[in-house]
Amino acid sequence: MIEDRYDVVIAGAGPAGLVAGLLVARAKLKVALVDPLFKEKTGSGARDDARTIALMQGATRLLKHLNLWSVCENSAAPLWRMRLIDRTERFLSAPTATFDAHELGGDPFAWNVPLTLLTNTLQRSCRKAKNLTMIGGSIDHVETTDTEVKLSVDNVSGQISAGCVIAADGRNSLCREAAKIKVTNWSYPQKAVACSFSHSLPHENMSTEFHYPAGPLTVVPLEGNRSSLVWIEKPDVADEIHQLSDTDFCARLAHQMDFVLGEISKATPRGLFPIHGLTARQFAKNRILLVGEAGHVLPPIGAQGLNLGLRDAALAAELIDDANSANEDIGSDDIMLTFDRRRRLDIFPRTVVVDLLNRSLIHNFAPLQGARGLGLFLLNNIGPLRREVMQRGMQPLNDVPRIMQE
Ligand SMILES: Cc1cc2nc3c(=O)[nH]c(=O)nc-3n(C[C@H](O)[C@H](O)[C@H](O)COP(=O)(O)OP(=O)(O)OC[C@H]3O[C@@H](n4cnc5c(N)ncnc54)[C@H](O)[C@@H]3O)c2cc1C
Repeated sequence: MIEDRYDVVIAGAGPAGLVAGLLVARAKLKVALVDPLFKEKTGSGARDDARTIALMQGATRLLKHLNLWSVCENSAAPLWRMRLIDRTERFLSAPTATFDAHELGGDPFAWNVPLTLLTNTLQRSCRKAKNLTMIGGSIDHVETTDTEVKLSVDNVSGQISAGCVIAADGRNSLCREAAKIKVTNWSYPQKAVACSFSHSLPHENMSTEFHYPAGPLTVVPLEGNRSSLVWIEKPDVADEIHQLSDTDFCARLAHQMDFVLGEISKATPRGLFPIHGLTARQFAKNRILLVGEAGHVLPPIGAQGLNLGLRDAALAAELIDDANSANEDIGSDDIMLTFDRRRRLDIFPRTVVVDLLNRSLIHNFAPLQGARGLGLFLLNNIGPLRREVMQRGMQPLNDVPRIMQE
């Protein structure tokens, strides 16, 4: 039986929801974090995930503020250089482009962290947090009123209510539906195979992205002579790669990468991810703020998805904290409008760029191929343009949530 009133309820304990939970609890608000995950009796309560996440500077700063970065850093690798290699073998192919974070000053582009480690670290911290209650179950009903949001959780009798809800319940978000927020949904004829592996040659902290006609194959450095892989292919080819024996998989991967990392071995279990796109038409409404994949899903190109999700979580917590400190309503229309306006400036342009990059590979449409080739040529040869694009690729130039600023 639960019958309780919280300041904030967070639906979903993926990485975006866990960060939102920690930040709201730090602001001394009473918060409930609800996910069916907490029902599972699997020790840590986290799911194993084949993905790694390239966390950009804002995200690592946020983890430092939460005193969690040192745990992640031990198993993370810095990403100093990136190269894009065209393997489309089309009439208008692009030159190889390389980007070096040293051009921008002190920090690497990103740190590559195993997603399971990140999620476990966040979850452990949530368990210790004051003001934060973890509830195991799926939210199955949400009702918004002028003054609060009421929710029920399956298998748990009673209701919980809150002044506002952070919806971090993933791409099929029930809370988003309850807020009456519409979405634009699309899919690509692609699936991604993800895992990590060992290689005989050093990666030198450089990620390599091979652009094939079916999609990119990206390898990102991990600790030592290990890297992570996101290999995007046509669905039937991805299914086949996913099913290969470990030996055949390693041999095929080494060949597909022209042996740039030498021989491949010790691949971890592979994950398979259909490639979708989704954008909410509004990012907050009716006391419900969308965070992470509840608000946006992008193809895994340019490491944007969770970095955006963490900026959503940080801004939601900041606006709620500010309103509470000023004794204002934490679910007011003003907050919904501010969150929506500020997040759309970050999310929409990135969604469009990632979509265009992906389509420029999979569609054999000469003007699009030409634009990609010309763009990469210009980036290779014009330093100020390249530096501007590198900066903007990592995070917005302004309007970064306070906890992610230097
Ligand atoms: C191959 C691949 C590589 C990627 N690499 C990167 C990268 O390098 N950098 C990057 O920034 N991003 C990357 N991404 C994107 C990133 O993985 C996602 O953005 C991120 O994992 C989504 O996290 P989330 O917390 O928003 O959602 P999820 O992890 O999907 O969490 C949603 C949670 O909500 C819960 N839930 C669902 N319904 C309910 C309900 N009714 N009630 C309660 N709980 C509910 C679920 O159980 C789940 O735990 C990659 C994606 C892929 C596919």
